[in-house]
Amino acid sequence: MKIYGNSAAVEQVANMVRNGREPHSIIIHGEKGLGKKTLAKYIAAQLMCSEGSGIPCGKCRACRLLEKGGHPDLITARPNSNGNYIYSADDPDSVRQYISDAVVKPNEGNIKVYLIPDLDRSQVTTQIAVQNIFLKLIEEPPEHTAIIFTARSKEIFLPTIISRTLDLGVVNVRESESAEYLRENYPDRSQADIADAVSAGRGNIGRCEAYLNREEFYAAAQTARKIAAAAASGSEYEILRAFADADGKKALLREAVCLFSEIVRDSCVIRLCGRADAVLTGCDSEAAARLAERISAGAGTRLYDLLCEYVGRIDANCNLTLTVNSLAGQIAQII
Ligand SMILES: [Zn+2]
Repeated sequence: MKIYGNSAAVEQVANMVRNGREPHSIIIHGEKGLGKKTLAKYIAAQLMCSEGSGIPCGKCRACRLLEKGGHPDLITARPNSNGNYIYSADDPDSVRQYISDAVVKPNEGNIKVYLIPDLDRSQVTTQIAVQNIFLKLIEEPPEHTAIIFTARSKEIFLPTIISRTLDLGVVNVRESESAEYLRENYPDRSQADIADAVSAGRGNIGRCEAYLNREEFYAAAQTARKIAAAAASGSEYEILRAFADADGKKALLREAVCLFSEIVRDSCVIRLCGRADAVLTGCDSEAAARLAERISAGAGTRLYDLLCEYVGRIDANCNLTLTVNSLAGQIAQII
């Protein structure tokens, strides 16, 4: 059982297990692609491994069942197709059903783990209702239960939950670890493909993997690169054309604007620190370097703020075509 990065979180839980102070509720939070669900499953193994050393042995029955994805005491809540959890009492898929057996002892070992992934994808009313359903179990947990929530931000959690919960943030891994992960999991892919995916996704393994598999992040990164290239040309028409692939596609447009904002941030860092010393995080360092030749750090900062504002407009369901037209015009003005 191998985990890449997030060693601080792993070590913290391992220490608690070794000292017999297992956490009974945990929030794992951080950006998409940084391995929240992978960490949640690893922590479940840390808690359930019969060796009790804090590091899953990979050999005991619990570890083997977890590895195969079939441990009866790891109970994962599933949202509906829109990503929204169901919580009404009379629905058989309600999250209430998941914890209805919480008082019952585990089937196999000493602990059963309830995993509630991506709670932030639910509507706000659902987020609160779900937390209230779990509140009693978090306030007075039986010795044999642990609850793990994952979400992009911990701000969605109620203060009463946060105060009783171990909160663990996931962070970027090193780019060498992303590359190692891809080489191990995609042995058929060429070194060039893997290097390309790592240069786009950097220390975010989820992004690297999505890029390699040509998933949504790949399309968003391609669009962001086109926007960056068009922005460096300064032509409003070219900028507008670069947005064409995302026309009418809200999720793609949002991600492309976010990724472009990261390229803009990188261009500011290059202006301020020089290319050699700049620590870059965006999906296209060449585009960031070209942009840095064109705009000052001040203009870059204004552009970054503008893009953040437009992400808010996209979230607020403004008319997408009008939003794109106005954004392209404003980008051209700044540049
Ligand atoms: Zn084990």
